Amino acid sequence: MIKTNNLQKVFRTDEVETWALNNVSIEVKEGEFVAIMGPSGCGKSTLLNILGLLDNPTGGEYYLNGKEVSKYTEAQRTSIRKGIIGFVFQSFNLIDELNVYENIELPLLYMGVPASERKRKVEEAMERMAIAHRSKHFPQQLSGGQQQRVAIARAVVSNPKMILADEPTGNLDSKNGKEVMSLLTDLNKEGTTIVMVTHSQHDAGYAGRIIRLFDGQVVTEVAL
Ligand code: ATP
Ligand code: MG
Repeated sequence: MIKTNNLQKVFRTDEVETWALNNVSIEVKEGEFVAIMGPSGCGKSTLLNILGLLDNPTGGEYYLNGKEVSKYTEAQRTSIRKGIIGFVFQSFNLIDELNVYENIELPLLYMGVPASERKRKVEEAMERMAIAHRSKHFPQQLSGGQQQRVAIARAVVSNPKMILADEPTGNLDSKNGKEVMSLLTDLNKEGTTIVMVTHSQHDAGYAGRIIRLFDGQVVTEVAL
């Protein structure tokens, strides 16, 4: 599903050059649940953003489902991202002006899914994430755990093959964190590939494999 070959990402300004990723070669097979760990600034989010086609690397290759996508334009990346990849972020990234229902519906609107099918899918996702009773609420009227459940509902509503999660429990207490991890585990059991960045050794324990980064390089890979 995912294969990278000597992936590099260099951020350059007039004065400094930061090697956020320095020859990262990893592979994630369909149906796997992989955790990415490592200290702050080691390149985890940079890697996840490239894997999720939010950004391009500055060197190396990225094969997504066999296609080399590392030099795709933003328009090309957007078009293949739709329907394949769902994102979950630490800060939830919900749209404040939209209610729960509308936030979850958004990816389906982008994909041009017809209205009746959108309604069915949004209701199904809300049911599944136990948030249906808050469908008319706005994000700021929800608890952190509820907001993250909405974000996961939005990530799964289009049935993506892969979910990329950047510290999905980072802003949650342990009870809500556990709930989010068990939702991700259920999705993985149903076949969704999951790549999750985490600082938490406990959360990484839900994964089947841990990839550790240090200073933009893979230092260890451990199967659990
Ligand atoms: P954290 O655990 O704190 O979230 P991280 O492992 O996710 O850290 P990244 O956000 O991937 O780290 O950043 C890796 C390195 O790249 C850091 O040194 C960071 O300062 C640098 N970096 C990230 N984004 C940019 C950018 N847009 N411009 C310049 N440098 C950047
Ligand atoms: Mg990060």
